[in-house]
Amino acid sequence: MVDLKGQYAAIKNEVDASIQEIIDNTSFVNGPKVHEFQKNLENYLGVKHVIPCANGTDALQIAMMGLGLEQGDEVITADFTFAATVEVIALLKLTPVLVDVDPETFNIDIDAVKKAITPKTKAIVPVHLFGQCANMEALMQLAKEHNLYVIEDNAQGIGANYTYSDGTKVKSGTIGHVASTSFFPSKNLGCYGDGGAIFTNDDDLAHTIRGIVNHGMYVRYHHDVVGVNSRLDSIQAAVLDAKLPKLDSYNNARRNAARQYNAAFKGIEKVTTPKTVNGCDGICDTCDCHVFHQYTLKVEHVDRDALVKHLNDNGIPCGVYYPIPLHAQKAYQDSRYNEADFTVTNQLVKQVISLPMHTELDDDQIKFITKTVKDFIANN
Ligand SMILES: *Cc1c(COP(=O)(O)O)cnc(C)c1O
Repeated sequence: MVDLKGQYAAIKNEVDASIQEIIDNTSFVNGPKVHEFQKNLENYLGVKHVIPCANGTDALQIAMMGLGLEQGDEVITADFTFAATVEVIALLKLTPVLVDVDPETFNIDIDAVKKAITPKTKAIVPVHLFGQCANMEALMQLAKEHNLYVIEDNAQGIGANYTYSDGTKVKSGTIGHVASTSFFPSKNLGCYGDGGAIFTNDDDLAHTIRGIVNHGMYVRYHHDVVGVNSRLDSIQAAVLDAKLPKLDSYNNARRNAARQYNAAFKGIEKVTTPKTVNGCDGICDTCDCHVFHQYTLKVEHVDRDALVKHLNDNGIPCGVYYPIPLHAQKAYQDSRYNEADFTVTNQLVKQVISLPMHTELDDDQIKFITKTVKDFIANN
């Protein structure tokens, strides 16, 4: 699914030197490299504050703690996402409210969000699933009307642009009140271990969060709030700082692979290629609206699980993200949910299949993968 070894080979000298420097100066935790990376990421994103932390799940949790969300507050998020998103809501004793997604973009459905808002609702967590922003303009408008916070789960979308209806472009993760991201190795900007970060343009919130990540300390050994220990270590920051200047070219390589996949599947009725809000297939050279964390097809009138097996039998890895809706997971069931409100997610879990997507895919690999998929579909 990913080729981290191939990617490393191309940047080995820089990464090795950068890691060696950390070892030589033993600044393993909170060293100057963490600060350097933080500043460089702030510049890249055009956001006032980046607060590095230990992983993307922590980042989400800390964002919610920073906003002061309290037990019983309802937080609306998508039914079709990785469990981390809903997990932290539940861990903080907030009440997760899962809603359906859009069948074309897989992102949180705006009408479903509207329907789910109650007087107890305090926040919405859109997930920029597979590398494309949710409909942030509509969400921010809704949030304004109902006085809600918007927390972007940007673990899959780093580097993607979001274009407002007036044409203004901003980076994903800089639109809501706060955003989280993950630097897990397979993410679009991945380190060689765990890592994450929180983004915000709000000075006060940034200050609060900087304390929370460090045991609730604002002055050494004075603990004003209950915090956590969540740090990005310097070696990971060194890897990330070496890779950040290449993020756009990495995302372009992903888009280029997506372009080839799309072309190969064109006209095949049983296969739906990923759709973008801009209608540009996400791969025009100007908008950069999709960074293809995953390249996800929907298949209809095809036995999806048999297709997975066929690809695996031919040595092609593939993934089903996600096979079970969150509302159907044991940990997140809630008697208030109604199956009729999750028709899209319930269908997507049976239809989606994600093909290998990374920065090192070459033409021959893509040809082999697409041919193997097409042969199966033609014969089944
Ligand atoms: C990966 C991911 C996370 C969690 O990130 P970790 O660094 O693994 O904790 C959260 N949300 C989404 C949507 C993700 O894809």
